[in-house]
Amino acid sequence: MHGEPVLASLQPMPITLKSYLSGRWQAGSGKAIPLFNPATEEVVAEASTEKLDLQAAVSFAREKGGPALRALSFGQRGEILKGMAKRINDSREELIGLGQVNAGNTRSDAKFDIDGASATLMFYAELGAKLGEQRTLLDGEGAPIGRSARLYGQHVLVPRQGVAIHINAFNFPAWGMSEKLAVSLLCGVPAISKPATATAWMAQRIAELWVESGALPEGALSLLCGSVGGLLSHLRGQDVVAFTGSGETAQRLRRDETICAYNVPLNVEADSLNAAVLGPDAQTGSETLNLFLTDVAKEMIQKTGQKCTAIRRIFTPLERLDEVREMLLERLGDVRVGNPTEEKTTMGPLATADQLRDVRAGIDKLAAKSEIAIGGSKPVQALGVAEGKGYFVSPTLLVQKEPRASDLANQLEVFGPVATLMPYRDSAQVVTLIAAGGGGLVSSVYSDDRSFVREAIQGIAPFHGRLTVAGEKLAGQTVPPGTVLPQLLHGGPGRAGGGQELGGMRGMQLYLQKVALQGERALIEQLFGSPRA
Ligand code: NAP
Repeated sequence: MHGEPVLASLQPMPITLKSYLSGRWQAGSGKAIPLFNPATEEVVAEASTEKLDLQAAVSFAREKGGPALRALSFGQRGEILKGMAKRINDSREELIGLGQVNAGNTRSDAKFDIDGASATLMFYAELGAKLGEQRTLLDGEGAPIGRSARLYGQHVLVPRQGVAIHINAFNFPAWGMSEKLAVSLLCGVPAISKPATATAWMAQRIAELWVESGALPEGALSLLCGSVGGLLSHLRGQDVVAFTGSGETAQRLRRDETICAYNVPLNVEADSLNAAVLGPDAQTGSETLNLFLTDVAKEMIQKTGQKCTAIRRIFTPLERLDEVREMLLERLGDVRVGNPTEEKTTMGPLATADQLRDVRAGIDKLAAKSEIAIGGSKPVQALGVAEGKGYFVSPTLLVQKEPRASDLANQLEVFGPVATLMPYRDSAQVVTLIAAGGGGLVSSVYSDDRSFVREAIQGIAPFHGRLTVAGEKLAGQTVPPGTVLPQLLHGGPGRAGGGQELGGMRGMQLYLQKVALQGERALIEQLFGSPRA
């Protein structure tokens, strides 16, 4: 045993998670929603947003936080982000404990979430330092628009004067919250962050650390713990919504009366059937094949497969199907499912009872057309847990021997440690099968055959937000496809939601209004600077 997680052992449970609104911590009234330890099914915390004054919270953020942030330069806002990253680092052990107790994370999974959060904040802190004294940005080069060089046009980017609503999924309470805040605060836009209720404890504790630090201007950060209530009904045209979660909830938001009436910008990060392709050239024992196997096994079990970027579909050349199947079984056979507080555990439970129900049902649906090579939907006896307790599932590999675009394996996202292995004949077929996923966040190609890589990448690029190409030359240096990087875009077309986050300055466009400014060149350059400066 690693011992009891730090914070959980200090507090009587369940604790009440308060929201931080209008500059103070407030608890909702009425019936609270319970948060569970997914390994033991004990209630560890509860949250309610009933009767909270959300209209006042939105106004407070807009009227206090907005002007205070906009008065700062990018460099000063970057300093705030640096302080936020530091607070997370300083409390890393405590936060790991919360990941274990409330999200079913192994130590390694919790560190992935927490370190991802601080690294992303630091990346945007450094970007802020580079942008320095500026408060607004130029968008590309200006251009003369009249007969003389004096009449000039320049696109500029200025902070929106509203509030950003950040709605996050349950799987990354630290990273998901921080990646949105980093970009929004750097742009000078205050935010109300709403973590998914099931795993909100980690997000709440981090917000508490930030508030205690006093580094943020009043109103720059608010937190809503519990259901979203009527929050969105208070939005107007200068506000913005950044959502991460299921395609189903995203559809609801797209139809939301207020969002539609006021054309509130909405960024959606949703589902994805990410694929990994082994090229026809990868030989047994090659670095390329090893990399492919390592990434597939890791992406299947990290965070118990509850990652929007996890590999769901595995494509191998037809003649390698049996070999690849055996090699994956060997790796997945070593996984030890159990309570994350047990040292031997390598994969924890799913985050909620609903997740368990959905993942089991999803496996059964996939199994109607595929063979289960390992795992399945049956109950698992997990390490260090009373019999029958916890939301555990086995890592599950299915094999679909004659795949078609219309198969469920190419249509259904099972949000757990579940993937389907499929053979392909040639690059045209694998492109068709991958494209059948309807738009994804990230897929990966493992090959050193440049003509195969070219055909595969050109074929699947329009269907993705990010692609990774891995081969012999990058052995030992690659970042697994499931790791979201602040330098590169996160988001994808179609079922992935059509959103774009991160990507360095690219993600900042959601929070900045692009204005085409035309007039006297010298005046424009005096007001907003020159692209050559
Ligand atoms: P979810 O059920 O859609 O919930 C996501 C968030 O939306 C939660 O904060 C939830 O709050 C909130 N929500 C629920 N109903 C709402 C409504 N009517 N109006 C406004 N907000 C509402 O998704 P999830 O189960 O947490 O996450 C799993 C899904 O997210 C998977 O499909 C996964 O692929 C996707 N995901 C995508 C990404 C990405 O970056 N593309 C990342 C992670 C996960 P409550 O918790 O209070 O209900």
